[in-house]
Amino acid sequence: MDDEPIDYDMPAPRVARIWLNRPQARNAQSTQLLYALNRAFDRAAQDDNIHVIILAARGPHFSAGHDLNEIAAGTAHDTVRAQQTVGTWCGFGCSGAEAQMAYEKEVYLGLSERWRNLPKPTIAQVHGKVITGGLMLVWPCDLIIAADDATFQDTAVDLGVCGVEFFNHPYELGIRQAKEFLFRAHVLTAQAAHAAGMVNHVVPRDRLEDFTLEIAREIARKPLFALKLAKEAVNAAQDAAGRSTVLHAAFGHHQLTHAHNMLVHGLLMDPTNLQSG
Ligand code: ZN
Repeated sequence: MDDEPIDYDMPAPRVARIWLNRPQARNAQSTQLLYALNRAFDRAAQDDNIHVIILAARGPHFSAGHDLNEIAAGTAHDTVRAQQTVGTWCGFGCSGAEAQMAYEKEVYLGLSERWRNLPKPTIAQVHGKVITGGLMLVWPCDLIIAADDATFQDTAVDLGVCGVEFFNHPYELGIRQAKEFLFRAHVLTAQAAHAAGMVNHVVPRDRLEDFTLEIAREIARKPLFALKLAKEAVNAAQDAAGRSTVLHAAFGHHQLTHAHNMLVHGLLMDPTNLQSG
């Protein structure tokens, strides 16, 4: 277990910065890390002096995705029950698909959607690899600023699952790019993600932190209420066009693929194409 999987600082007036801080595990998302991250987002949200929140990562990679060691050890469901900030979903201690759906609805879909709706501008400062579950930390942010070494990949289909739990793919990449991203599970470069509209800016790796902070400082000088409502209005446009309905439908499909894999393989994922990463 890590001592402190999340770090928090205030690098400029009205700017909070949250660091994923499991570099030795490539910032793999243990349940403990996700709840520590949620507490850090809550802290920044509830501090009226903070106008902008940056999400950054320590170590060579932004995030390797779900913590597969925790999943293999079968401890994730116990860990979520021990969290003080657990939401109102239930059934973590049940058996079968009920427990799996409960965990993923709360910890994956629930937290990512909560961060997407956080009432302050958020900026993802991304470098290195973002693999599968890692997308669920990056995509909820309002702006994405990528280093030129950043790459993005969803390996879910290779593992017999129909995409990562926070199914925002069509809205991040557009329809055709989203399908290719899912079908091929290939690595998308920062430049390709920028061309698809998923990333706001691509900057040299050694400029990433300063550039992100410059953007955050600029936004942080503006009235928070106007920022908050501008964000809500854009999110409302997306949701009025069906995003939240699609997200929940895709989550049901995702649970079906887990249940299918469990019936056929005795595992949540199809091990046939299991490879590193
Ligand atoms: Zn899942």
